[in-house]
Amino acid sequence: MVVLQRSPELSGSGPMVPEPFEVTAKRRDTADTWTLELEPRSRDPLEFAPGQFTMLSSGGAGEVPISISGDPDRPGRLVHTVRAVGLATRAICDTEPGRVLGVRGPFGAPWPVEDLQGADVVIAAGGIGLAPLRPTVLALLARRQRYGRLVLLYGGRTPDQLLFTDELAEWSGRGLEVLVTVDSAGPEWVGHVGVVTRLVRRARLDGTATAAMLCGPEVMMRFMVAALVDQGVRDDQIYLSMERNMQCGIGHCGHCQLGPTLVCRDGPVYRWSELEPWLAIRDL
Ligand SMILES: Cc1cc2nc3c(=O)[nH]c(=O)nc-3n(C[C@H](O)[C@H](O)[C@H](O)COP(=O)(O)OP(=O)(O)OC[C@H]3O[C@@H](n4cnc5c(N)ncnc54)[C@H](O)[C@@H]3O)c2cc1C
Repeated sequence: MVVLQRSPELSGSGPMVPEPFEVTAKRRDTADTWTLELEPRSRDPLEFAPGQFTMLSSGGAGEVPISISGDPDRPGRLVHTVRAVGLATRAICDTEPGRVLGVRGPFGAPWPVEDLQGADVVIAAGGIGLAPLRPTVLALLARRQRYGRLVLLYGGRTPDQLLFTDELAEWSGRGLEVLVTVDSAGPEWVGHVGVVTRLVRRARLDGTATAAMLCGPEVMMRFMVAALVDQGVRDDQIYLSMERNMQCGIGHCGHCQLGPTLVCRDGPVYRWSELEPWLAIRDL
């Protein structure tokens, strides 16, 4: 008799099976962005490294990759910051406390937080890009004495689109140099106005001692890389988090192919020196 066995990925457990997590808290960050805190219903807390993501789903609205924005030293609460741009993200942002979301993961290659000990570290974020970098900020500040300068360069379109504004002052008090800019603002804004790349010169970096982690729209990251290299930062010391359309999250389906790699498995964090040749190819 032939016994057909289901693979663990398709049976009751495994990386393709979402696990129920209850929304325990929800905060509106901007007009279209919410931060949700989740707790597992039936499993241990989700240990994760800064830069990793989960595949998140609400009912039948589809499943999408969302970076973890919480504190890696407090994995009991899974935190996600989500911008509602389409069907799946809108359904996730509409989920009220007490309701359940499906979670798979964590997946992906993390930011090289440990490897950068001793270096000056620049964190450069555009818009929602600060969410995937928040765990890195928290991890670096928890180990502040192991690093040189810690500098955050953060840009948003307008002041009301900036994330985690209540935390920026606290991070600054703990040893992070925080430079913020917006593309445009009303007279009530007393900070910098202009694109985020302009902050690079203001930061007066020692390029040869600096490593950088970048997350934001791809065009912003390309200009940020150029500005950092111009200040003497080595291209193998610049790391970027890449976004591509993703479905399985575990390197099986091939939807998120980038050059010879799969973003879900080999990324989303890459070194610029590795990425550059692939991004030179149009529409890759
Ligand atoms: C590794 C990784 C980590 C991510 N982390 C986060 C995160 O922490 N928080 C977060 O909010 N998003 C994050 N994203 C992006 C998120 O996965 C997409 O926004 C989501 O897949 C959109 O699905 P949807 O069904 O809601 O929208 P869709 O129906 O797929 O898209 C609706 C419309 O929005 C546009 N759109 C799609 N994605 C974006 C986008 N990112 N920005 C602007 N417009 C878009 C589409 O072109 C389309 O016009 C991440 C993506 C990746 C690959």
